[in-house]
Amino acid sequence: MPLAAPPVQVTVPPVVGARLAVPLVDGRRVTYANLDHAASAPCLEAVRDAVDELLPWYASVHRGAGFASQVCTRVYDQARDTVRAFVGARRTDAVVFTRNTTDSLNLLARSLPKGTSVVLFDTEHHAALLPWRGPRVHRIETPASPGDAVLALGAALAGLPVGPRLVVLSGASNVTGELWPVAALAEVARAHGARTVLDAAQLAPHRPVDLRALDVDYAVLSGHKLYAPFGAGALIGRADWLRAAEPYLVGGGATRQVVDWGDRLGVSWSKVPERHEAGSPNVVGVHALAVACETITRHGWAAVTEHEKVLLHRLRAGLATVPGLRELALFGPGHDRVGVVSFTVDGLDPGLAAAALSAEHGIGVRDGAFCAHIATRRLLGRVDATQSRALRASVGLGTTAEHVDRLVAALCSLAADGPRAAYELVDGRWAPVDDPRPLPPFLREAA
Ligand code: PLP
Repeated sequence: MPLAAPPVQVTVPPVVGARLAVPLVDGRRVTYANLDHAASAPCLEAVRDAVDELLPWYASVHRGAGFASQVCTRVYDQARDTVRAFVGARRTDAVVFTRNTTDSLNLLARSLPKGTSVVLFDTEHHAALLPWRGPRVHRIETPASPGDAVLALGAALAGLPVGPRLVVLSGASNVTGELWPVAALAEVARAHGARTVLDAAQLAPHRPVDLRALDVDYAVLSGHKLYAPFGAGALIGRADWLRAAEPYLVGGGATRQVVDWGDRLGVSWSKVPERHEAGSPNVVGVHALAVACETITRHGWAAVTEHEKVLLHRLRAGLATVPGLRELALFGPGHDRVGVVSFTVDGLDPGLAAAALSAEHGIGVRDGAFCAHIATRRLLGRVDATQSRALRASVGLGTTAEHVDRLVAALCSLAADGPRAAYELVDGRWAPVDDPRPLPPFLREAA
Protein backbone atom coordinates (compact mmCIF):
# COMPACT_ATOMS: atom_id res chain seq x y z
CA MET A 1 0.00 0.00 0.00
CA PRO A 2 1.59 3.35 -0.95
CA LEU A 3 1.99 5.63 2.06
CA ALA A 4 2.87 9.28 1.76
CA ALA A 5 5.07 9.54 4.86
CA PRO A 6 8.53 8.01 5.43
CA PRO A 7 9.12 5.75 8.47
CA VAL A 8 9.66 7.46 11.81
CA GLN A 9 13.23 8.77 11.97
CA VAL A 10 13.46 10.42 15.38
CA THR A 11 14.23 8.60 18.62
CA VAL A 12 11.91 9.06 21.57
CA PRO A 13 12.12 7.89 25.19
CA PRO A 14 11.46 4.11 25.29
CA VAL A 15 8.40 2.61 26.96
CA VAL A 16 8.00 -0.54 29.04
CA GLY A 17 6.33 -3.39 27.14
CA ALA A 18 7.49 -2.33 23.68
CA ARG A 19 8.13 -5.97 22.83
CA LEU A 20 5.14 -7.42 24.68
CA ALA A 21 3.91 -10.56 22.86
CA VAL A 22 0.16 -11.19 22.97
CA PRO A 23 -1.70 -14.36 21.95
CA LEU A 24 -4.07 -14.54 18.96
CA VAL A 25 -7.10 -16.79 18.53
CA ASP A 26 -5.21 -18.92 15.98
CA GLY A 27 -2.54 -19.80 18.57
CA ARG A 28 0.18 -17.46 17.26
CA ARG A 29 1.78 -14.68 19.29
CA VAL A 30 2.55 -11.24 17.91
CA THR A 31 4.04 -8.05 19.30
CA TYR A 32 1.27 -5.99 20.86
CA ALA A 33 0.33 -2.94 18.80
CA ASN A 34 -0.90 -0.53 21.45
CA LEU A 35 -2.94 2.02 19.55
CA ASP A 36 -4.82 3.13 22.65
CA HIS A 37 -2.42 5.68 24.12
CA ALA A 38 -5.28 8.18 24.56
CA ALA A 39 -6.92 5.91 27.15
CA SER A 40 -3.75 5.08 29.10
CA ALA A 41 -0.19 5.39 27.86
CA PRO A 42 2.47 2.77 28.62
CA CYS A 43 5.03 3.48 31.32
CA LEU A 44 8.27 5.15 30.27
CA GLU A 45 11.33 3.01 31.00
CA ALA A 46 12.82 6.02 32.80
CA VAL A 47 9.73 6.16 35.03
CA ARG A 48 9.89 2.43 35.80
CA ASP A 49 13.61 2.76 36.67
CA ALA A 50 12.96 5.77 38.90
CA VAL A 51 10.16 3.94 40.71
CA ASP A 52 12.45 0.92 41.22
CA GLU A 53 15.09 3.23 42.66
CA LEU A 54 12.61 4.84 45.03
CA LEU A 55 10.91 1.68 46.31
CA PRO A 56 13.62 0.62 48.82
CA TRP A 57 13.25 4.10 50.34
CA TYR A 58 9.47 3.94 50.39
CA ALA A 59 8.13 5.31 53.67
CA SER A 60 5.53 7.77 54.97
CA VAL A 61 5.49 11.34 53.71
CA HIS A 62 5.34 14.45 55.93
CA ARG A 63 4.94 12.45 59.14
CA GLY A 64 7.97 10.33 59.83
CA ALA A 65 11.21 11.32 61.50
CA GLY A 66 12.97 8.34 59.92
CA PHE A 67 15.55 8.99 57.23
CA ALA A 68 13.54 7.16 54.54
CA SER A 69 10.48 9.26 55.44
CA GLN A 70 12.51 12.38 55.03
CA VAL A 71 13.77 11.19 51.65
CA CYS A 72 10.21 10.45 50.51
CA THR A 73 9.00 13.81 51.79
CA ARG A 74 11.74 15.51 49.78
CA VAL A 75 10.80 13.49 46.69
CA TYR A 76 7.13 14.42 47.10
CA ASP A 77 7.76 18.12 47.64
CA GLN A 78 10.26 18.39 44.77
CA ALA A 79 7.70 16.84 42.44
CA ARG A 80 5.50 19.92 42.89
CA ASP A 81 8.19 22.14 41.41
CA THR A 82 8.75 19.74 38.52
CA VAL A 83 5.06 19.58 37.64
CA ARG A 84 4.71 23.36 38.07
CA ALA A 85 7.56 23.91 35.62
CA PHE A 86 6.21 21.28 33.19
CA VAL A 87 2.98 23.25 32.67
CA GLY A 88 4.63 26.68 32.83
CA ALA A 89 2.70 27.66 35.94
CA ARG A 90 3.27 30.80 37.95
CA ARG A 91 5.52 30.66 41.05
CA THR A 92 2.51 31.40 43.23
CA ASP A 93 0.29 28.69 41.72
CA ALA A 94 -0.69 25.77 43.91
CA VAL A 95 0.12 22.25 42.76
CA VAL A 96 -2.31 19.79 44.35
CA PHE A 97 -1.68 16.12 43.73
CA THR A 98 -4.81 14.13 42.98
CA ARG A 99 -5.63 10.73 41.53
CA ASN A 100 -6.25 11.92 37.97
CA THR A 101 -7.92 14.58 35.83
CA THR A 102 -11.38 13.56 37.00
CA ASP A 103 -10.37 13.98 40.62
CA SER A 104 -8.72 17.33 39.87
CA LEU A 105 -11.81 18.74 38.15
CA ASN A 106 -14.10 17.52 40.91
CA LEU A 107 -11.84 19.19 43.46
CA LEU A 108 -11.91 22.46 41.54
CA ALA A 109 -15.70 22.22 41.17
CA ARG A 110 -16.04 21.84 44.96
CA SER A 111 -13.68 24.80 45.50
CA LEU A 112 -15.54 27.43 43.47
CA PRO A 113 -16.65 30.51 45.36
CA LYS A 114 -20.39 30.59 46.01
CA GLY A 115 -22.37 31.77 42.99
CA THR A 116 -19.66 31.04 40.41
CA SER A 117 -20.99 30.78 36.85
CA VAL A 118 -19.40 27.96 34.87
CA VAL A 119 -19.28 27.97 31.08
CA LEU A 120 -18.28 24.99 28.96
CA PHE A 121 -18.66 23.49 25.52
CA ASP A 122 -20.99 20.51 25.47
CA THR A 123 -18.55 18.19 23.71
CA GLU A 124 -16.26 17.90 26.75
CA HIS A 125 -15.14 14.59 28.19
CA HIS A 126 -17.50 13.59 31.02
CA ALA A 127 -14.75 14.41 33.54
CA ALA A 128 -14.97 18.04 32.45
CA LEU A 129 -18.70 18.05 31.66
CA LEU A 130 -20.24 16.60 34.79
CA PRO A 131 -18.62 17.97 37.98
CA TRP A 132 -20.30 21.37 37.68
CA ARG A 133 -23.81 21.52 39.12
CA GLY A 134 -26.60 24.00 39.54
CA PRO A 135 -28.35 26.78 37.68
CA ARG A 136 -25.17 28.68 36.93
CA VAL A 137 -23.76 26.10 34.54
CA HIS A 138 -23.96 27.21 30.92
CA ARG A 139 -23.36 24.70 28.16
CA ILE A 140 -22.48 26.01 24.73
CA GLU A 141 -23.21 23.83 21.73
CA THR A 142 -19.88 23.18 20.06
CA PRO A 143 -19.68 25.20 16.85
CA ALA A 144 -18.17 23.99 13.59
CA SER A 145 -15.04 26.14 13.68
CA PRO A 146 -12.53 27.44 16.25
CA GLY A 147 -13.40 31.02 15.27
CA ASP A 148 -17.08 30.39 15.96
CA ALA A 149 -16.15 28.82 19.30
CA VAL A 150 -14.44 32.04 20.32
CA LEU A 151 -17.48 34.09 19.26
CA ALA A 152 -19.89 31.72 21.02
CA LEU A 153 -17.90 31.91 24.24
CA GLY A 154 -17.88 35.72 24.12
CA ALA A 155 -21.66 35.76 23.61
CA ALA A 156 -22.24 33.31 26.47
CA LEU A 157 -20.03 35.27 28.86
CA ALA A 158 -21.69 38.56 27.95
CA GLY A 159 -25.04 37.19 29.14
CA LEU A 160 -23.84 35.97 32.56
CA PRO A 161 -24.86 37.48 35.88
CA VAL A 162 -22.29 39.45 37.88
CA GLY A 163 -20.04 37.27 40.03
CA PRO A 164 -17.15 34.86 39.74
CA ARG A 165 -16.90 32.96 36.46
CA LEU A 166 -15.02 29.91 35.29
CA VAL A 167 -14.62 28.72 31.70
CA VAL A 168 -13.78 25.04 31.20
CA LEU A 169 -11.50 24.50 28.21
CA SER A 170 -10.25 21.36 26.57
CA GLY A 171 -6.70 21.26 25.22
CA ALA A 172 -7.33 18.45 22.75
CA SER A 173 -10.47 16.41 22.13
CA ASN A 174 -10.20 12.82 23.32
CA VAL A 175 -12.54 11.81 20.48
CA THR A 176 -10.93 13.50 17.50
CA GLY A 177 -7.60 14.70 18.88
CA GLU A 178 -8.34 18.16 17.51
CA LEU A 179 -6.74 21.10 19.29
CA TRP A 180 -8.94 23.77 20.77
CA PRO A 181 -7.96 27.45 20.35
CA VAL A 182 -7.06 27.71 24.03
CA ALA A 183 -5.17 31.02 23.94
CA ALA A 184 -7.95 32.78 22.00
CA LEU A 185 -10.66 31.36 24.27
CA ALA A 186 -8.68 32.32 27.39
CA GLU A 187 -8.32 35.86 26.05
CA VAL A 188 -12.09 36.18 25.63
CA ALA A 189 -12.64 34.71 29.08
CA ARG A 190 -10.18 37.18 30.60
CA ALA A 191 -11.89 40.08 28.82
CA HIS A 192 -15.15 39.06 30.51
CA GLY A 193 -13.55 38.67 33.93
CA ALA A 194 -13.67 34.88 33.88
CA ARG A 195 -11.05 32.41 35.02
CA THR A 196 -10.19 29.39 32.89
CA VAL A 197 -9.35 25.77 33.60
CA LEU A 198 -7.57 23.77 30.94
CA ASP A 199 -8.32 20.06 30.73
CA ALA A 200 -4.85 19.02 29.60
CA ALA A 201 -5.43 15.26 29.91
CA GLN A 202 -4.99 14.73 26.16
CA LEU A 203 -2.80 17.74 25.43
CA ALA A 204 -0.02 17.35 27.99
CA PRO A 205 1.26 13.98 26.66
CA HIS A 206 1.55 15.36 23.12
CA ARG A 207 2.34 19.08 23.20
CA PRO A 208 4.01 21.49 25.62
CA VAL A 209 1.55 23.25 27.95
CA ASP A 210 2.42 26.77 29.12
CA LEU A 211 -0.14 28.26 31.50
CA ARG A 212 1.55 31.64 31.55
CA ALA A 213 1.80 31.91 27.75
CA LEU A 214 -1.82 30.74 27.38
CA ASP A 215 -2.92 32.99 30.25
CA VAL A 216 -4.92 30.13 31.73
CA ASP A 217 -5.66 29.96 35.48
CA TYR A 218 -5.76 26.20 36.13
CA ALA A 219 -4.60 23.04 34.42
CA VAL A 220 -5.51 19.45 35.21
CA LEU A 221 -3.80 16.28 34.00
CA SER A 222 -3.39 12.54 34.62
CA GLY A 223 -0.11 10.66 35.13
CA HIS A 224 -1.44 7.52 33.44
CA LYS A 225 -1.91 9.38 30.15
CA LEU A 226 1.55 10.92 30.55
CA TYR A 227 3.52 7.65 30.66
CA ALA A 228 3.43 7.46 34.48
CA PRO A 229 0.70 4.92 35.34
CA PHE A 230 1.07 4.94 39.13
CA GLY A 231 -2.17 6.62 40.13
CA ALA A 232 -1.29 10.30 40.43
CA GLY A 233 -2.67 13.38 38.68
CA ALA A 234 -2.56 17.09 39.42
CA LEU A 235 -4.53 20.31 39.68
CA ILE A 236 -2.27 23.30 39.14
CA GLY A 237 -3.35 26.91 39.40
CA ARG A 238 -4.43 29.97 41.38
CA ALA A 239 -4.21 29.28 45.09
CA ASP A 240 -6.85 31.73 46.42
CA TRP A 241 -10.04 29.73 45.67
CA LEU A 242 -8.34 26.58 46.92
CA ARG A 243 -7.25 28.36 50.10
CA ALA A 244 -10.80 29.51 50.83
CA ALA A 245 -12.49 26.18 50.06
CA GLU A 246 -13.33 23.47 52.55
CA PRO A 247 -11.58 20.25 51.53
CA TYR A 248 -13.90 17.95 49.60
CA LEU A 249 -11.96 14.95 50.88
CA VAL A 250 -11.41 15.19 54.63
CA GLY A 251 -9.11 13.29 56.94
CA GLY A 252 -5.52 13.19 58.14
CA GLY A 253 -3.05 15.47 56.38
CA ALA A 254 -5.78 17.97 55.50
CA THR A 255 -6.11 19.02 59.14
CA ARG A 256 -3.87 21.26 61.21
CA GLN A 257 -5.75 20.62 64.44
CA VAL A 258 -8.87 18.86 65.67
CA VAL A 259 -10.37 19.67 69.07
CA ASP A 260 -13.35 18.25 70.93
CA TRP A 261 -15.93 20.97 71.60
CA GLY A 262 -18.34 18.58 73.27
CA ASP A 263 -21.28 18.77 70.88
CA ARG A 264 -19.01 18.85 67.80
CA LEU A 265 -15.44 18.78 66.62
CA GLY A 266 -13.49 21.94 65.92
CA VAL A 267 -11.28 21.49 62.88
CA SER A 268 -8.73 23.84 61.41
CA TRP A 269 -7.68 22.81 57.94
CA SER A 270 -4.09 22.73 56.70
CA LYS A 271 -2.88 25.27 54.21
CA VAL A 272 -2.89 24.61 50.46
CA PRO A 273 -1.87 22.18 48.98
CA GLU A 274 -2.04 19.74 51.95
CA ARG A 275 -5.58 20.97 52.67
CA HIS A 276 -6.75 19.17 49.54
CA GLU A 277 -4.58 16.06 49.84
CA ALA A 278 -6.19 14.23 52.75
CA GLY A 279 -4.94 10.73 53.49
CA SER A 280 -1.51 9.24 52.90
CA PRO A 281 -0.07 10.73 49.73
CA ASN A 282 0.81 8.62 46.71
CA VAL A 283 4.52 9.36 46.76
CA VAL A 284 5.32 6.67 44.18
CA GLY A 285 2.71 7.99 41.74
CA VAL A 286 3.75 11.58 42.24
CA HIS A 287 7.43 10.72 41.74
CA ALA A 288 6.52 8.77 38.60
CA LEU A 289 4.57 11.74 37.26
CA ALA A 290 7.45 14.12 37.95
CA VAL A 291 9.99 11.80 36.32
CA ALA A 292 7.77 11.51 33.23
CA CYS A 293 7.59 15.32 33.02
CA GLU A 294 11.39 15.58 33.41
CA THR A 295 12.09 12.82 30.91
CA ILE A 296 9.92 14.35 28.18
CA THR A 297 11.30 17.83 28.83
CA ARG A 298 14.91 16.59 28.82
CA HIS A 299 14.41 14.56 25.67
CA GLY A 300 12.83 17.54 23.98
CA TRP A 301 9.36 18.22 22.64
CA ALA A 302 10.67 18.49 19.10
CA ALA A 303 11.35 14.75 18.92
CA VAL A 304 8.07 13.83 20.65
CA THR A 305 5.93 15.95 18.35
CA GLU A 306 7.83 14.93 15.19
CA HIS A 307 7.47 11.24 16.08
CA GLU A 308 3.73 11.67 16.51
CA LYS A 309 3.30 13.89 13.47
CA VAL A 310 4.86 11.28 11.18
CA LEU A 311 2.83 8.44 12.71
CA LEU A 312 -0.40 10.42 12.61
CA HIS A 313 0.17 11.26 8.97
CA ARG A 314 0.84 7.61 8.19
CA LEU A 315 -2.23 6.56 10.15
CA ARG A 316 -4.59 8.99 8.45
CA ALA A 317 -3.16 8.28 4.98
CA GLY A 318 -3.63 4.56 5.64
CA LEU A 319 -7.14 4.93 7.05
CA ALA A 320 -8.12 6.90 3.96
CA THR A 321 -7.51 3.71 1.91
CA VAL A 322 -9.93 1.58 3.99
CA PRO A 323 -13.21 1.17 2.06
CA GLY A 324 -16.17 2.77 3.84
CA LEU A 325 -14.07 4.38 6.60
CA ARG A 326 -15.19 7.79 7.82
CA GLU A 327 -13.12 9.90 10.17
CA LEU A 328 -14.78 12.05 12.83
CA ALA A 329 -13.89 15.74 13.10
CA LEU A 330 -15.20 18.65 15.12
CA PHE A 331 -13.58 21.38 13.06
CA GLY A 332 -12.83 19.60 9.78
CA PRO A 333 -10.21 17.17 8.48
CA GLY A 334 -7.50 19.81 8.04
CA HIS A 335 -7.55 21.05 11.63
CA ASP A 336 -4.41 20.47 13.75
CA ARG A 337 -4.70 17.50 16.11
CA VAL A 338 -2.73 15.26 18.43
CA GLY A 339 -2.33 11.58 17.58
CA VAL A 340 -5.95 10.53 18.05
CA VAL A 341 -8.33 9.47 15.26
CA SER A 342 -11.88 8.17 15.68
CA PHE A 343 -13.76 6.61 12.81
CA THR A 344 -16.49 4.26 11.65
CA VAL A 345 -16.34 1.66 8.90
CA ASP A 346 -19.53 1.01 6.91
CA GLY A 347 -21.08 -2.32 7.86
CA LEU A 348 -18.65 -2.97 10.74
CA ASP A 349 -19.82 -2.91 14.33
CA PRO A 350 -17.13 -0.94 16.23
CA GLY A 351 -17.19 -3.33 19.19
CA LEU A 352 -16.88 -6.39 16.97
CA ALA A 353 -14.12 -4.74 14.95
CA ALA A 354 -12.19 -3.86 18.13
CA ALA A 355 -12.53 -7.45 19.37
CA ALA A 356 -11.31 -8.84 16.03
CA LEU A 357 -8.41 -6.38 15.87
CA SER A 358 -7.32 -7.68 19.26
CA ALA A 359 -7.99 -11.40 18.80
CA GLU A 360 -6.83 -11.77 15.19
CA HIS A 361 -4.17 -9.06 14.86
CA GLY A 362 -2.86 -8.26 18.36
CA ILE A 363 -3.96 -4.63 18.10
CA GLY A 364 -5.40 -2.59 20.98
CA VAL A 365 -7.85 0.20 20.05
CA ARG A 366 -10.82 1.73 21.86
CA ASP A 367 -14.43 1.46 20.79
CA GLY A 368 -17.59 3.08 22.12
CA ALA A 369 -18.42 6.68 22.87
CA PHE A 370 -15.14 7.48 24.70
CA CYS A 371 -16.68 8.99 27.88
CA ALA A 372 -17.80 11.86 25.68
CA HIS A 373 -21.29 10.72 24.71
CA ILE A 374 -22.60 14.06 23.54
CA ALA A 375 -19.54 14.71 21.40
CA THR A 376 -19.51 11.24 19.88
CA ARG A 377 -23.23 11.23 19.16
CA ARG A 378 -23.05 14.65 17.54
CA LEU A 379 -20.05 13.70 15.43
CA LEU A 380 -21.60 10.41 14.38
CA GLY A 381 -24.82 12.19 13.52
CA ARG A 382 -22.82 14.05 10.92
CA VAL A 383 -21.61 10.83 9.28
CA ASP A 384 -24.06 8.11 10.31
CA ALA A 385 -27.18 8.80 12.37
CA THR A 386 -27.73 5.09 13.10
CA GLN A 387 -24.52 4.63 15.12
CA SER A 388 -23.67 5.91 18.57
CA ARG A 389 -20.29 4.21 18.78
CA ALA A 390 -17.03 4.46 16.89
CA LEU A 391 -13.48 3.12 16.87
CA ARG A 392 -10.53 5.16 18.08
CA ALA A 393 -6.84 4.66 17.30
CA SER A 394 -4.32 6.77 19.18
CA VAL A 395 -0.56 6.95 18.85
CA GLY A 396 2.19 8.00 21.22
CA LEU A 397 5.71 7.22 22.33
CA GLY A 398 5.09 3.46 22.24
CA THR A 399 3.81 3.44 18.65
CA THR A 400 5.77 2.23 15.63
CA ALA A 401 5.11 2.49 11.90
CA GLU A 402 4.52 -1.28 11.87
CA HIS A 403 1.68 -0.92 14.42
CA VAL A 404 0.01 1.65 12.19
CA ASP A 405 0.46 -0.41 9.03
CA ARG A 406 -0.86 -3.51 10.77
CA LEU A 407 -4.01 -1.63 11.83
CA VAL A 408 -4.62 -0.34 8.32
CA ALA A 409 -4.14 -3.79 6.75
CA ALA A 410 -6.39 -5.39 9.39
CA LEU A 411 -9.13 -2.82 8.82
CA CYS A 412 -8.95 -3.35 5.05
CA SER A 413 -9.35 -7.09 5.61
CA LEU A 414 -12.23 -6.60 8.09
CA ALA A 415 -13.98 -4.16 5.75
CA ALA A 416 -13.70 -6.62 2.86
CA ASP A 417 -14.35 -9.98 4.54
CA GLY A 418 -15.39 -9.36 8.14
CA PRO A 419 -13.79 -11.19 11.09
CA ARG A 420 -12.31 -14.65 10.48
CA ALA A 421 -13.11 -16.11 13.93
CA ALA A 422 -16.54 -16.49 15.56
CA TYR A 423 -17.57 -13.92 18.17
CA GLU A 424 -20.35 -13.63 20.73
CA LEU A 425 -21.57 -10.91 23.04
CA VAL A 426 -20.40 -11.49 26.62
CA ASP A 427 -21.76 -8.95 29.13
CA GLY A 428 -22.42 -6.55 26.27
CA ARG A 429 -18.94 -6.81 24.73
CA TRP A 430 -17.82 -8.87 21.73
CA ALA A 431 -15.42 -11.71 22.51
CA PRO A 432 -14.16 -14.75 20.57
CA VAL A 433 -16.36 -17.82 21.14
CA ASP A 434 -14.48 -20.11 23.58
CA ASP A 435 -11.61 -17.63 23.62
CA PRO A 436 -8.50 -19.86 23.52
CA ARG A 437 -5.99 -17.09 24.31
CA PRO A 438 -4.08 -17.97 27.49
CA LEU A 439 -3.84 -15.35 30.20
CA PRO A 440 -0.36 -14.41 31.45
CA PRO A 441 0.98 -16.77 34.16
CA PHE A 442 0.47 -14.32 37.02
CA LEU A 443 -3.26 -14.20 36.23
CA ARG A 444 -3.58 -17.93 35.63
CA GLU A 445 -2.04 -18.60 39.04
CA ALA A 446 -4.39 -16.14 40.71
CA ALA A 447 -7.50 -17.67 39.08
N1 PLP B 1 -10.35 14.74 29.95
C1 PLP B 1 -10.02 14.16 28.79
C2 PLP B 1 -9.93 15.01 27.56
C3 PLP B 1 -9.76 12.80 28.74
O1 PLP B 1 -9.43 12.23 27.58
C4 PLP B 1 -9.87 12.04 29.92
C5 PLP B 1 -9.65 10.57 29.89
O2 PLP B 1 -9.79 9.92 28.89
C6 PLP B 1 -10.20 12.69 31.09
C7 PLP B 1 -10.44 14.03 31.08
C8 PLP B 1 -10.32 11.93 32.38
O3 PLP B 1 -9.06 11.45 32.73
P1 PLP B 1 -8.93 10.42 33.94
O4 PLP B 1 -9.73 9.23 33.55
O5 PLP B 1 -7.47 10.14 33.98
O6 PLP B 1 -9.43 11.10 35.14
